[in-house]
Amino acid sequence: MTSSPIWHPFTQHGLGEPIPLVTRADGAALFTADGRRVIDAISSWWVTTHGHNHPRIVAAIREQAERLDQIIFAGWTHEPAEQLARGLTAIMPPALTRVFFSDSGSTSVEVALKMALGYWNARGEPRHRIVVMQHSYHGDTIGAMSVGERGVYNRAYTPLLFDVGTIPFPHAGQEQATLDALERECAAGAAAFIVEPLVLGAGGMLIYPASVLAEMRAICAAAGVLFIADEVMTGWGRTGTLLACHQADVVPDILCLSKGLTGGAVPLAVTMATEPLFAAHYAADRSRMFFHSSSYTANPIACAAANANLAIWRDEPVAARVATLSQRQAERASRLSTLPGVRDVRTLGTIAALGVGDGSGYLSNLGPKLLAFFRERDLLLRPLGDTIYVMPPFCIDEADLDAVYDVIADAVTTFGQATANT
Ligand SMILES: *Cc1c(COP(=O)(O)O)cnc(C)c1O
Repeated sequence: MTSSPIWHPFTQHGLGEPIPLVTRADGAALFTADGRRVIDAISSWWVTTHGHNHPRIVAAIREQAERLDQIIFAGWTHEPAEQLARGLTAIMPPALTRVFFSDSGSTSVEVALKMALGYWNARGEPRHRIVVMQHSYHGDTIGAMSVGERGVYNRAYTPLLFDVGTIPFPHAGQEQATLDALERECAAGAAAFIVEPLVLGAGGMLIYPASVLAEMRAICAAAGVLFIADEVMTGWGRTGTLLACHQADVVPDILCLSKGLTGGAVPLAVTMATEPLFAAHYAADRSRMFFHSSSYTANPIACAAANANLAIWRDEPVAARVATLSQRQAERASRLSTLPGVRDVRTLGTIAALGVGDGSGYLSNLGPKLLAFFRERDLLLRPLGDTIYVMPPFCIDEADLDAVYDVIADAVTTFGQATANT
């Protein structure tokens, strides 16, 4: 294993932690080369919605691969992309009339930021300042890092990151401070506000109320500041509704989607925009076009997988599965809340999270111990420092979900109180 030339993401190879070799997956289960069945309790980093290897998505990928694998998307088009764009505009808020393709959540955010700045530039009223929320995560490219929380994970690159306006996270009882800060930033002539609706994922599964989301949207609308919803994690049912924005009746100017867009099978992203964003770039003048592309923009195989995802949402009882899982998550998480050493148990839709230990954050010494504990018990859970969260595929059955919570309860008993002194 140590002889592998692979340099893994978010991995400290110097710690010599074992890296399991996965050979197959099915539903909520992963199977390893050494014969273990591992429960995927984090949907392979938040992407797998319906379960691994959904037959319909697999079939769509196979069929598309035999017909058209890849085609330049500048000045050319293909049916899987056309069908997907029509399908997305049909189920997303009607004001989002335009669909721009890219490959990952990070690129969908880069595209959103460029669209926003392009809009102000085209209006002859250049604005460049982006407003962000404390503890946000929007990806790992330079622009996406710039609008995300600063910390140990991007300290080496700080001089390259652009300045942003940061508003505080709306902790319970302090919501007004968040709204006031946003109002100040908007009044100072911001170009756009980018936010993860209802849940800040990588920031520690921090949940805030729909009413705050609605008020933030209203503040931006009143000030004419573009509102960018990064639903890369929250989209596709994660928070209980297709979009988290739906719970606040919020329609953004720009919407970022990725992760569950293909059901989590292959990489694809879209940045959806309202007509004024598109109109700002629309002219007979080539210098005003939207200057963005990547080689695999709207790859046909990825679009076919996304079309299968939309068909699954249409034809299968996905909303009912989401509702059932949401209810089970809430029940099991609330049972854990009585254990000593557990704090801040919270759930939203299919997401459940809790704090253990002393609250020392991402590099908490507890993180690696928990990771090893879960790995040894054939469970894919990846705590965010001392925050344990469960975000399984919607198809996980009760037995597997019970097993996940039994192991978490064991972990809390083993580490929960001891950490007060470490
Ligand atoms: C994961 C994530 C991203 C980045 O997506 P990638 O596909 O990993 O580049 C952006 N925003 C949010 C909210 C995310 O959770």
